[in-house]
Amino acid sequence: MNLRKLLWPDIPESQWNDWQWQVKNRLQGKDGLERLGSTLGIDVSRRLRVLNRYKWAATPYYLNLMASRDVSLDPVGRQVIPSGKETGVTSSSASPDPLKERHYSPVRGLIHRYRDRVVLLATGFCASYCRHCNRKRTWNRPECVILSEEKLKLVRDYLLSNPHVREVLVSGGDPLLLPMEHIARLLEALRSIPSIEILRIGTRVPVVLPMRITEDLCRLLKRQRPIWINTHFNHPVEITKEAKAAIERIQLAGIPVSNQSVLLRGINDNYDTLRSLFCRLQAIMVRPYYLFQCDHVSGTRHFWVPMKKGIRMMDRMWGDVGGMCVPNFVADLSEGSGKARLLSSHLIELGRKEAIFATFEKKIVKIKLE
Ligand SMILES: *Cc1c(COP(=O)(O)O)cnc(C)c1O
Ligand code: SF4
Repeated sequence: MNLRKLLWPDIPESQWNDWQWQVKNRLQGKDGLERLGSTLGIDVSRRLRVLNRYKWAATPYYLNLMASRDVSLDPVGRQVIPSGKETGVTSSSASPDPLKERHYSPVRGLIHRYRDRVVLLATGFCASYCRHCNRKRTWNRPECVILSEEKLKLVRDYLLSNPHVREVLVSGGDPLLLPMEHIARLLEALRSIPSIEILRIGTRVPVVLPMRITEDLCRLLKRQRPIWINTHFNHPVEITKEAKAAIERIQLAGIPVSNQSVLLRGINDNYDTLRSLFCRLQAIMVRPYYLFQCDHVSGTRHFWVPMKKGIRMMDRMWGDVGGMCVPNFVADLSEGSGKARLLSSHLIELGRKEAIFATFEKKIVKIKLE
């Protein structure tokens, strides 16, 4: 299937590669979903009902990565097209904000859960709304949408009086969709705080809108180093030549890129897909940093994968691919209890004089410690 030919047949390359054209021409809301449905020849009536609760928009570029008309089987379609299940039967463990981010928010837009680092929610706006997003609750909250001058001052004052915070993770929403002046102002304000050593930007732009990574943007980011970009690839089909070129532009500005994925049922919950995702990330010099167990956020239950399955796959990964390809597999525990590593240890028993290990090949090995 070639969705670009079906939906945007006369758009020249230059326009297709213009990120503002992509944002303007997103399919969104009821009209967009109906248009997509009739193009794919599918009934979207159940999916439409979801839009009363959760918004929807997707870039032409990202939608065009769909290979199959069967939305619920396609790894891109499944991530970005609303499913009736989002408002279906829910679980007692699900909540709009299981990480209690609001509870840990000393200033609006700032989450301070760990001693040395904070998350700053710079905007509620995204290029495409991922159906598994753990901040679905912020999509419709206009107060999150723009971090005004005055709110930014409150953030800055808070950080100035908490000098043990050394890292700010700018997230959202997608901070790289803010206007350039706004990104510059935000990063400069953070940089002017002497105790802030590191900036990190969480963005899905390289995946859903790689043309946003312009030379201008890279120049702006370069001025704010040390800065890390953390992006969000979930499936090998997302690593296109456009995405690869965008990543390379960031890297050429002297900015390292790492990736966090979410383990998602029907998208990447099998060994070969994960393995290929991590190896292809390494091949474009993006370090797989985290694989997240899907948070128990309301409206995402159809994506949850049993924890045991994830642990088994990640155990098998160790030793089967280079260590650079193996991310930390973690769960963000509910009630804001923090991230927990989901490792099964190779260390079976640790005494004073000897230790017993199960090797990556499942051999039992005893080693002397003195
Ligand atoms: C994940 C997270 C961070 C960053 O943690 P790292 O382990 O450094 O990636 C910071 N604050 C909050 C609230 C988080 O959820
Ligand atoms: S880009 Fe990030 S914040 Fe935006 S919808 Fe996707 S996961 Fe959520």
